[in-house]
Amino acid sequence: HQSKLPNVGTTIFTVMSALANEYKALNLSQGFPNYPSPQLLNDLVANAMNNGYNQYAPMAGNLDLRLAIANKFQQLYNTSYHPDTEITVTAGATQAIYTIISAFVKPNDEVLIFKPAYDCYQPAIEVNGGKTIAIQLSAPDYSVNWDEVASKISSKTKMIIINTPHNPSGTIWSEEDMLQLEKLTKDTNIIVLSDEVYEHIVFDGDQHHSACKFPDLKARSFITASFGKTFHNTGWKIGYCCAPEDLMNEFRKVHQFNVFSVNHPAQKGIADYMADAETYLGLNNFFQQKRDLFLNLIAESRFKFMPSKGTYFQVLDYSEITDEHDVDFAKRLTKEFKIASIPLSVFNENNKDDKVLRFCFAKTDETLIKASEILCRI
Ligand code: PMP
Ligand code: GLN
Repeated sequence: HQSKLPNVGTTIFTVMSALANEYKALNLSQGFPNYPSPQLLNDLVANAMNNGYNQYAPMAGNLDLRLAIANKFQQLYNTSYHPDTEITVTAGATQAIYTIISAFVKPNDEVLIFKPAYDCYQPAIEVNGGKTIAIQLSAPDYSVNWDEVASKISSKTKMIIINTPHNPSGTIWSEEDMLQLEKLTKDTNIIVLSDEVYEHIVFDGDQHHSACKFPDLKARSFITASFGKTFHNTGWKIGYCCAPEDLMNEFRKVHQFNVFSVNHPAQKGIADYMADAETYLGLNNFFQQKRDLFLNLIAESRFKFMPSKGTYFQVLDYSEITDEHDVDFAKRLTKEFKIASIPLSVFNENNKDDKVLRFCFAKTDETLIKASEILCRI
């Protein structure tokens, strides 16, 4: 058969985690915590299982969870999404993203993405026959040239995918960036897919600027989120997306035949856990402590960095250490120094020369201390 994705191999997250396991290396590559999911949340999921939440959830998701999500948008962003028609619970953000793309992108439609880009966007565009149009962001600040974006928008542009806080760079978009996007898409039919899975992980008192806070943007946007990122249990694969009703209708036409609905007891447990908003509002401080610990400990190393502004990732520039290609260097660090990271070039095939690796700091303090001892020896 002829492959629909001839240039796609195995995702770097699988490759680096497998290598970390093989060489018994500290795994700061794939983004997941190495400490437990909260006990109370685990108990609430167990309660849900013991109280009958074991059959199919409604297609759009458990109603208590959709109400909790709607309440969060109201409290945090002062905006409303109707739980019946504008919110759908998904199998992680990944399924939301794939389903949004497949519900809208037709062969030869163009989709703008910003590179380096999280790795699930481009294959989803291309397996649906779309064309990826890349806009380059560059180290160290990864800022957007809005004139370039304007020049790449055309009548063929179906969708623009944005991601703030940004994986892998750890940068965030300003209010001005969001206003630029709102201005450029006004009076078009472009759909915006706003990947906001790290919305609750922003540092130094900065603010997350959700697409839902900008009325003209909100009207054309899907917002996706991931409870795995927010509640420290990436293995549960529960997320959601929100959009105005006309867009959500099209989404659900695909979603109902793609998964129909997702894990019910986990949804009910998460709904009950969200009754206390501190469970997600406390994340900024929780991860700021980890980022600061990690960066203080590696300050004397030969790696250079700009502190991450959001997400639980820190990119480190190793250009003072070696000229090696980042994939080779990341593999060598895993094998010889027993520390695994993610080379940035895999998110950015147009820019193979950056000497940058991404490290995940959603780890116990003990792991971060061990990791920084290694990084200071390199
Ligand atoms: N988008 C970004 C930017 C991510 O980093 C991730 C990984 N969590 C996802 C989407 C996918 O989220 P999930 O694990 O909920 O599928
Ligand atoms: N989002 C995680 C990361 O960026 C990985 C998720 C996955 O393994 N697909 O590391």
